[in-house]
Order: sequence, then structure tokens, then C-alpha cells
Amino acid sequence: MSIFSNVQTAPPIEVFALTRAYNADQNPKKVNLGVGAYRTDEGKPWVLPVVRKLEAQLAADETLNHEYLPVLGLDAFSKAAVHMLLGTDCPAVIDNRALGVQSLSGTGALFVGAKFLQKILGYDTYYYSAPTWGNHKLIFDTAGFKQGRAYRYWDPATKNIDFEGMCEDLRNAPENSVIILHACAHNPTGCDPTDAQWKQIAEIMRERKLFPFFDSAYQGFASGDLDKDARTVRYFAKEGFELFCSQSFSKNFGLYNERTGNLTVVMKDAELAAAVLSQLTLVVRATYSNPPAHGARVVAATLTNKDLFAEWQDHIRVMSSRIIQMREALRDRLVKLGTPGTWDHITRQIGMFSFTGLTPQQCEYLGNEHHIYLLRSGRANMAGLNTNNIDYVASAIHDAVTK
Ligand code: PMP
Repeated sequence: MSIFSNVQTAPPIEVFALTRAYNADQNPKKVNLGVGAYRTDEGKPWVLPVVRKLEAQLAADETLNHEYLPVLGLDAFSKAAVHMLLGTDCPAVIDNRALGVQSLSGTGALFVGAKFLQKILGYDTYYYSAPTWGNHKLIFDTAGFKQGRAYRYWDPATKNIDFEGMCEDLRNAPENSVIILHACAHNPTGCDPTDAQWKQIAEIMRERKLFPFFDSAYQGFASGDLDKDARTVRYFAKEGFELFCSQSFSKNFGLYNERTGNLTVVMKDAELAAAVLSQLTLVVRATYSNPPAHGARVVAATLTNKDLFAEWQDHIRVMSSRIIQMREALRDRLVKLGTPGTWDHITRQIGMFSFTGLTPQQCEYLGNEHHIYLLRSGRANMAGLNTNNIDYVASAIHDAVTK
């Protein structure tokens, strides 16, 4: 009898299982609309030219080494990340009330933030949108939160936000609940509240003493404009909220496996920063001790140099506009084919994903019959589409819907 005998097999992580199935599929027509990674029009991953250039420089720089970074990471990086998120004219930045902690990408920032809230502040309830990114619950549960509750978000009937439902659920949340909010390009629905709706959300959260934990995984990637994609977090900060925001540089820098991220903390009083940072230091120390340097060096160099920054902004415009084009291409084809249903939501949605409205059965059918892989929820990565496969995907969706 092994001490491991009673270990139950955990469910597979759907998105990684999909990639495995896609990789094993020998059909030349196969299409991966699962994993959230950018692809060029040739269907290839894209190392951003500015990243390539900096990597060559870093490799040749003999002053660099592989010594440990400080526990809270590279200072130049976390400062630049905070500025990118909040803008340099943000009162919290000017007053030194905004801190950055380098993290293991967005996931690591969420975990470190959640663990701090649970362990140091004693928070025990968090809310996530229904639906949300598949990892939020796992992260907050693993960080020791006792209760995870959903707030209504997606209305399948309108293929839009159930704003009334969302507000009602937030109004009924117990004080001091942590509310996970997607800063922009909501994953998986691609639907963000309007500015007027965010204002109402902020009012409820202030009144009900709810703590905003923003998740910013797509800044610049959604609209092509860094300021536009950060406007909601900036609005909350300006309104005087204390908040956390996880930042991921996976998509906007294409640095997926370099685990490059930041936890931004906005607080009311600069004098509290030292104590907060000291506790975050211990959370990081216990979790992974200190973060990796490579991605942080690339991002810091880009964000702090005018020319490199301009070059990178071009790259994010290339990525975001290609995705917007693919949305239009897919919608147009489905309309032309006369595929039953309405398809305007595909172009109304923003960011990497479209929440297509396809049923789990239709998604499975697409995988089994047409070698097109997407999540059972109907979430499809629009960057997986390109001029070579768009007709094939559209007619396969038509088949799945009409069969
Ligand atoms: N939050 C959301 C909503 C995401 O979509 C992602 C990436 N899929 C992340 C966080 C974090 O990803 P990473 O850990 O690679 O930065």
C-alpha cells in the first residue's frame, strides 16, 4: 500500500489537453483556436523584432550575469510596468502610493496578491465573473481563500454582459470580498463593460467596501492603444480605490514562457509601502524566492527607451489589428454562408478571443470532424485564424451549426 494510493486523478487542464490533441493530429488542415497565443498570418508564433534585437544585445553584454535578482525583482522593470499601467500622471504614481512587484507573469502576480490578501489581511471570499479565465479559481483556492463565488457576467441570450445581474451580485457581496475584474479584453467573452458601466461598478464597490483585484493580461493587445486598454484601472486609481492589478507581458510582448509579470499595488498612504512590501517579500520568498531576469530585462529596456518603445507600439498595433481583421473575416463569411444565428458579436467583442456561442457539442464536432480545436465553452482564439484557413474554418462552423 503506497502513501499515494488514495490520490485522486485531477481533471486535465482543458487548454493544454487541446494543444496536445492538436499536436498529435496528423491532418494538414488542422487549426488550433485553443491556446491564447498570437500567430502570424502564416500561422506561426511571432518573436517581436524589438525583443529579438534586445535579446541579441543582452546575449552580447558581458556585464550581465546569472546572479539572483532581488526577491521583488528588477526595480527598473517593476517601475516601468507600474508606469505603463497607471500612466506617469496618475496621482498614486506621483505620490509614491503605487508599488510594483515583479512576478512570475500574470499567474504569479495573481497568486502572490491573493496569498497576501488571504494571509496578511485575512480576506476569505473572492468573486469571479461567470465565466472567467480558467485559472482564477484554482489560484485563489490554492492561495487559501475559503469561498469563491461567481458574479453574473455573460448573458447568452444577448451575447453581451448581463450588467444588471453583475451589479446585483456585487451589491449582495459581503464587505471585504475580493472582486476579480478583467482590466480589458475579458477572457473568455471578449466583452468589456462600457465606461459608464465601470463607473457604476466602482460606485457599488466603494459603497459595499469590495476590494478590486484587476487582471491585466492584454494591455495594448486589445485595442492597440496602451492608454485605452488601461483606462479602467486608471479610473479606479484616480477615484481613490486601493487595489491590486496583475500584469502579464505574455501576450503584448510575446514573452509567454519567460514568465514576465508584475503585481501593481495602489494604496492610500505612501508611508504604508514599506510594511506592505516587506510582507510581499516573504510571500514571494516562500513561493519561488525570486523571479527570472531575462524577460524583465527585455521589457524594462523597451519601456524606458523612446525609440524601442515606439517600435514595440507598432508591434502591438500589428497584432491587435490582425486580430480585428480576422474577426471581420469570420463574421463576413458566416453571414455570407447564411449560417443560422447572428454573428455580429464576433466583431463586437475585443481582444484575443471570441466567445462564439457554439455549444460544447458543436465544439467537439469541430475537433473530431474538422480538426479545428477550441474550448468547449465556445471560446476561440481569433489569432489562430489566417487568410489560409479562414474559409475552411467558416465552412466547418457552418457545417457544425447546420448538421
Ligand atoms: N489572466 C488572464 C485573463 C489571461 O488570459 C492570462 C493568460 N492566458 C493570464 C491572466 C496570465 O497568463 P500568464 O501567466 O502567462 O501571464
